[in-house]
Amino acid sequence: MTDRPASSPDRGSSAGKPVDMHVHIVGNGTGDTGCWLRVHGWHRPLAGLMLRHIGLPATAIKGELDGLYAERLLQLVRESSLGAAVILAHDKVYDEQGNVREELGSFYVPNDYVLKLAAEHPEFLPAVSIHPARPDAFEELDRCLAGGAVMMKCLPNCHNIDCNHPRHRRFWERMAEAGLPLLAHPGGEHTVPVVRRELSDPRTLELPLRCGVKVIAAHCGTKSGLFDPDYFGIFVDMTRRHANLYGDTSAFNVPIRGRHVRDCLQSPLVERLLHGSDYPVPVHGHFAWLKGYVDWQTFRRWERHPNVLERDYRLKLAMGFPAETFCRFGRLLRSVHASTCG
Ligand SMILES: [Zn+2]
Repeated sequence: MTDRPASSPDRGSSAGKPVDMHVHIVGNGTGDTGCWLRVHGWHRPLAGLMLRHIGLPATAIKGELDGLYAERLLQLVRESSLGAAVILAHDKVYDEQGNVREELGSFYVPNDYVLKLAAEHPEFLPAVSIHPARPDAFEELDRCLAGGAVMMKCLPNCHNIDCNHPRHRRFWERMAEAGLPLLAHPGGEHTVPVVRRELSDPRTLELPLRCGVKVIAAHCGTKSGLFDPDYFGIFVDMTRRHANLYGDTSAFNVPIRGRHVRDCLQSPLVERLLHGSDYPVPVHGHFAWLKGYVDWQTFRRWERHPNVLERDYRLKLAMGFPAETFCRFGRLLRSVHASTCG
């Protein structure tokens, strides 16, 4: 663990290099990482597909997954145009009373593991995950801030977090005081079980926004599955009311999520966007080419590129996302303002 300050702009983004601010870490606990993973049913072939996509054998899931996955990711960042990747922890599910409900989750990545990886490798920036109903939520937040956390990540509908509940107000205020942004995933989710569907709506993020937290809505609220509601319009409307609401472009190279790329390139919305890949979610340029977001030569060139982080970055550059989109995360960290709830 280091005593690096929470909002240190001196890593990754400092050189003006692009940052991928939505990169998942997974592990099965090998190497004493504390991670766990439960993959059942149709998720098994999906997990194998994702591993092969990033250049690991599908059998890694039963092997030394944690080390293999982290090493591969490090190699991809180093061999890409990126300055850094923000790596995401994933907390357990808790009930309203703060009791852990481990049986409801499908994977766990402890904060200590992402903090350790980031302390060892300057290419990684640690995003921690803290359920605000945890009995030790404030202690954990302070501990993670001292450890160098650059962001907090949660999925309200999967983690069972009612962000608008008044009991969480102090937690959001503490995050705002510390200048720690919140990456929250609204909308449907198909890789992690949904515990409370009603918490999929981005309007569930109103209280942290009013408390002054810089909130990043993962995927801009676009839908994940064909039959999910599309919250993109609600997200856009909320950006007009909240100057501290942002969205990320993660998984925009997946057909369903990529439907709103043209809307996302329009001002003023484009000034609120941050680049994320959603690694290890597969990156393919077919949809971008079919929709006319990129031309044939661009598609052919980057579709063949073996580095999926670079492929995602290059395809999004070609789609027309301005250079600032890829560096905005660093600026989000620098402007730290204390605030209280309105
Ligand atoms: Zn994700």
